[in-house]
Amino acid sequence: MFDKVLIANRGEIALRIQRACKELGIATVAVHSTADADAMHVKLADETVCIGPPSATESYLNIPSLLAACEISGADALHPGYGFLSENARFADILHEHGVTFIGPSAEHIRLMGDKIAAKDTVKKLGIPVVPGSDGAVTSEKHAKKVAAEIGYPVLIKAAAGGGGRGMKVAQSQEDLGLALSTAKTESKAAFGDDTMYLEKYLGRPRHIEVQVIGDGHGNAVHLGERDCSLQRRHQKVWEEAPSPALNNEQREEIGQIVSTAIADLHYSGVGTVEFLYENGEFYFIEMNTRLQVEHPVTEMITGLDIVIEQIRIASGAPLSITQDEVRMNGHAIECRINAENASTFIPSPGKITYFHPPGGLGVRVDSGVYAGYTIPAYYDSLIGKLIVHGKNRNECMMRLKRALGEFVIDGIETTIPLFSALINEQDIVNGLYDIHWLEKYLEKH
Ligand code: ADP
Repeated sequence: MFDKVLIANRGEIALRIQRACKELGIATVAVHSTADADAMHVKLADETVCIGPPSATESYLNIPSLLAACEISGADALHPGYGFLSENARFADILHEHGVTFIGPSAEHIRLMGDKIAAKDTVKKLGIPVVPGSDGAVTSEKHAKKVAAEIGYPVLIKAAAGGGGRGMKVAQSQEDLGLALSTAKTESKAAFGDDTMYLEKYLGRPRHIEVQVIGDGHGNAVHLGERDCSLQRRHQKVWEEAPSPALNNEQREEIGQIVSTAIADLHYSGVGTVEFLYENGEFYFIEMNTRLQVEHPVTEMITGLDIVIEQIRIASGAPLSITQDEVRMNGHAIECRINAENASTFIPSPGKITYFHPPGGLGVRVDSGVYAGYTIPAYYDSLIGKLIVHGKNRNECMMRLKRALGEFVIDGIETTIPLFSALINEQDIVNGLYDIHWLEKYLEKH
């Protein structure tokens, strides 16, 4: 096991990883920008290193600074969290060259899944269902039109290097295709420095369902069931739950088995999430995230497993601590992402928190890095915490969520708590009947 782990992240996830390290008896190093000197993960770490000015490119994304911090602190491993450098294969390679373990999969697997065309091709060969579309990249407008005519309109043009919903364009008909392709190419070139595009059938009313997996790199893997993350705004997840209200046990077991077998065959090492769109009883792979995800706690709540501890153990070379037969899913969990934003305009609301009272009681978990008197800096993502609630079944979970939201007080800034307080009274949400467009449509009306 590692002696000292450097956590190359900030906010709630830095604290979350620190908690896992402490329970494993591992010393922790917090790195921070000058804007984060007062952050909770800095206060609670065993050691701290300032890695640069507020701008993320000069601090949390600054590889030379992070290497220096590893050197100064003598950390033998680095946990990247999510975002920032967590899916940067080059960073994983560089750490390896410097004798520091990257807590994540191999650079080779990060690279493979980061190229969406290669990823789709790989998982298809491993038996995972994919969205019908082009076999690889589309080479010209003519080629795109030919593929689109075969799969049928509407089609979605996607960037091989895509991420965060950028470089994606829908074409409703052959007339739209030329313009959609050239706009998507320009957007992708600007955002990712690459304009390799591919084509997919556009699904009209899918749900977003993802499967959590853990592999040990030696041909063993388990799945921890699925999460339903269909409630999204601008392709960003807002509310996640497990299990999905749309699946029955048979479907759950079937997709879980397909995914864990593929991950085992790939000799994948670490935690990962295989994301699908789900429509009319069919699953369609969209991408694999080769890192810890924001919404991992809902899976922890229903399985009782600590995903971060498992991730650290596997990175240190230990085998999986559980077999598939030992994974038990119990009850229902929902996570609400609390952002420092106005709940209807979504305009960021950084500033000083004057009062902070998190909810408590049975089945309630708050993962957050903020406290009363803390000033939220304006430089980073607006996620300030997550409220996760567990119940015996979905109904109990919803009632508990309502109760917990009512107790939650954050004064001094605006947060998205009022949005969730409104959502839990919506009939479609109560019934679990929503697709990936539901929230956008709701927000247009309110
Ligand atoms: P990114 O890496 O940019 O997030 P994804 O492939 O994960 O891209 O897709 C992001 C979102 O775009 C999905 O959650 C879904 O809402 C939508 N999407 C992606 N592919 C399709 C498709 N074939 N049909 C309909 N919507 C899609």
